[in-house]
This record gives sequence, C-alpha cells and structure tokens, in this order.
Amino acid sequence: MSSIRELHKQLTSKERSAAEITQAYLESIQAFEPKLHSFISLTEDKALEQAKQIDAKIAAGEDIGLLAGIPTALKDNLCTKGIITTCGSKVLGNFTPPYESTVTQRLAEAGAVFVGKTNLDEFAMGSSTENSAYQVTANPWDLEKVPGGSSGGSAAAVAAQQCVAALGSDTGGSIRQPASFCGVVGLKPTYGLVSRYGLVAYASSLDQIGPLSCTVEDAAILLQAIAGHDPQDSTSLKVDIPNYAKALRPTLDRRNRRRIGVIQETFGSGLEPVVESAVKQAIEQLQELGAEIQVISCPQFRYGLPTYYIIAPSEASSNLARYDGVKYGLRRDHTDLMSMYAKTRAEGFGMEVKRRIMIGSYALSAGYYDAYYLKAQKVRTLIKQDFEKAFGQVDVLVCPTSPTTAFKMGEKVNDPLSMYLSDLMTIPVNLAGLPAISLPCGFDEAGLPIGLQLIGNVLREDLLFEVAYAYEQATDWHERKPKL
Ligand code: GLN
Repeated sequence: MSSIRELHKQLTSKERSAAEITQAYLESIQAFEPKLHSFISLTEDKALEQAKQIDAKIAAGEDIGLLAGIPTALKDNLCTKGIITTCGSKVLGNFTPPYESTVTQRLAEAGAVFVGKTNLDEFAMGSSTENSAYQVTANPWDLEKVPGGSSGGSAAAVAAQQCVAALGSDTGGSIRQPASFCGVVGLKPTYGLVSRYGLVAYASSLDQIGPLSCTVEDAAILLQAIAGHDPQDSTSLKVDIPNYAKALRPTLDRRNRRRIGVIQETFGSGLEPVVESAVKQAIEQLQELGAEIQVISCPQFRYGLPTYYIIAPSEASSNLARYDGVKYGLRRDHTDLMSMYAKTRAEGFGMEVKRRIMIGSYALSAGYYDAYYLKAQKVRTLIKQDFEKAFGQVDVLVCPTSPTTAFKMGEKVNDPLSMYLSDLMTIPVNLAGLPAISLPCGFDEAGLPIGLQLIGNVLREDLLFEVAYAYEQATDWHERKPKL
C-alpha cells in the first residue's frame, strides 16, 4: 500500500484506476474490520461512485489533483450530508445531517474518495475510544491495546491501511495521541486555520480538525486541501495559506539554522523510560540534521491538565444543552417536558459525557464561576505566555506526544483521572491555540509505537512540516507496518 503521491502516479500513468484502488482499500477494510472495529459506518457505494467520477476525468484527459481518487476516512463527528453522523453517541444515533461540513466539502471537491466514518469516544471525550457508545476499536499493533483517542478509529484505520489517510479532531490531543499510539502522523493545526463548520462541537475554543496519515507529506497534502478561511465559521482566520510542499526538504534549512527547544517539564515523573529514551534519541537526530538544540522551561505547562478539565467541560456543558430531544437526535417521550428532557439525556448520553456536563455546569454556576472558570481562563493566559516566551528563543518545541505507549483495553476505564493523564503533553497546545504534529520515533519492547511531538508558533505549520519531514527522511519508523 502506498502514499498519496505514489497512488497519484499510478492513477495518472493509468497503471491502476481509481475504482481498482478504492476496491483494494474496501477489501482491506473487510479483512480487518472484524478485528479492529475502526469504522462506525461504511460508505462503499459513495466511494465507488466518487472513484468512477475520477476515472472518467482521467479518461477524458483532464488533470487531477493529488487527492483525487485517494481513499479517505472521516471521524464520525464530521457532518456528511445524507450520511449518518453519530459522534459516537446514542443521542445522535439517528442523525443524518442535512448539510456537509466545510472540510469534507473541500476534500470532496479535491476528489477524495470517502470510504467510511470512523469510531470515536462519544463527543470526542476520551483518550482510548472506549467511550464510544457503539464499539471498542483495537490497536492494529496489539489487538488487546487501545488505539488512543478520541480519533482512535481514524488512527487505527490509517495504521492498518484500511484507508490512505483520515480526518480527526483534536480538542486536547485527540489527533496526536492516537497517532502516537498507532504509529502514524497526526497534525493539529493552529486554532482557526481549518474551518469547524459541520464539526459536532465539543469545546469550541479548543476544537480543531486535522489529518492523520502514514507520512508527513500526506499530512501536508491534506492540510493544504482543508485549510483556509470559511465565512461559515466566525473563528476562521483570514490568512493566506502557504504552499506546504515547499517546506518538505530532505534536510533542515542550513541558512536559517533551526532552533529547537526541548520542553524541560515534559521529562519529569510519569514518563515511561522507553518513551524518554526514544524521544531523546530523536532530539539527537535532529541535532545531527543541523538543528540547534536548547532546553526551554514552560513552568505553567503542568497546570494545563487541570485548566483544561475546567474549560473543556464548561464549554461542553453549554454545547451539549442542544440535545434535549426536541430539535433532532434521540427523544424519549414521557409525561411532561422536564421528564422528557431527563429521560432523553439519561438514555442518550454515556457516563463520561454525563460526568463532563456535571463538572461543566458546576464550574459555570453562579458562586463558582469566579473560583473555577474565570481562574482557569487566567491560567490559560499564563500557559499561552509561556509559549510566547519560548518562541522568542526557538523556532519549534519538542517533547513526547504521550507519556506512555498504548495501554491495555479496560485498564483505565474506571479511573478517569489516570485516563486524563495521557493528554498531559498535548493539552497545553490546544489551550494556547498552537499547531503541533506527532510522528513515529520508535517502538517499545512490546513493539508498540512511540510518538514525537513538535509544537510550532501560531501558523507555523510550515516549520513543523520542515522539521518532521527531515526527521522522517532520516529514519525508517514510518515504514514499519503492523502485522494483522
Ligand atoms: N482526551 C481528551 C478529552 O478527553 C482530549 C479529547 C479530544 O482532544 N477531543 O477531553
């Protein structure tokens, strides 16, 4: 199986048709789904129809873009017109969106072929995909381990080559952490770079959509297609989108020596020794590639987790108030309006979602607002200032994506706090609205992948691609595939 560029060559040289490529990936889905459960729904007919259109274009001698005919999967919190979009929740179990999200619209216009909607933690709340109301997805490297979350279905599908690439969403790490657990590349763009129109809202000031793929170049190709201003999203940035392909060079820029900052606070207790040594080796490799390495301190980093677990549930409690059984989604009738609400929500939402609605409602309630929500917003500013200071000294920051490799299914389901800890290193990035990428940098003794996180300043996705690509070209971690 191949990268986007390789498949593009096969298509334009007429070595293989889009229909043949699509068929091959649909077969791979059929072969591995019984073990993995990456998908909530499959869209085979749509995929074959889209592939047929691309083949017609090729036959007519028309130019096709890089994404044309590329089998792609979509996290099931992205609205797709006429295709059920559950968000991993019973409350949206019957929801067929009457409109298309901007990102899926843009991918479709670029000719991508949609193979299906991937599994996720309900409302993207979780770090293992075990909070899905439908199924548990397995990690392709070890079927007893979780794929990470909440975009675990997308990450597993990419790792198992059930699709070439996928979209996920990242509110506190949900693209990067599963990318790390499944040994693939995952990018969370700068807040506002990619439109959120049509993304089912979890915590609106943190949510961003981004790509998961096998290579850095594939992530850049996907970002190129989905980034850019959208009048339908009021937080969408009005900026020119650079040509990301230009950043992909086999070595780091030598004229402007890249300064890479190692975040000192991420190497404390709780970090698995095997993760620590893989990340340190990756940093040495970056130095060999010509980067200047500095140690950087982000003292407020450690407040990221508690700050996030006030802000995200607060926003969630407000966003999820719309699932009241009246407008759309599940409805459980009862004697009066209040009990209809209560019954609908009691049945429609899972444990974790209920926990967060309660925490958020509490934090926002009169009397506690200043002590919790307002305080958290202030700490959020301090965390942002740490990053601003760091980017005065270096171009890119580096740290592990997750303190551990993939854990066992069931291991943390009854211990939400230990589950929350797996996002320790990804969450501060969302609080500051910055871009970050996770890419494979090694394996543990059990053969589970380890992820390296690179964090950039606002809108410096180009620098992330430059550093990530140079590292990827110098290593072969991305070439290893799970044996299924
Ligand atoms: N695991 C974090 C949470 O549960 C982050 C989820 C996400 O990024 N969507 O909220």
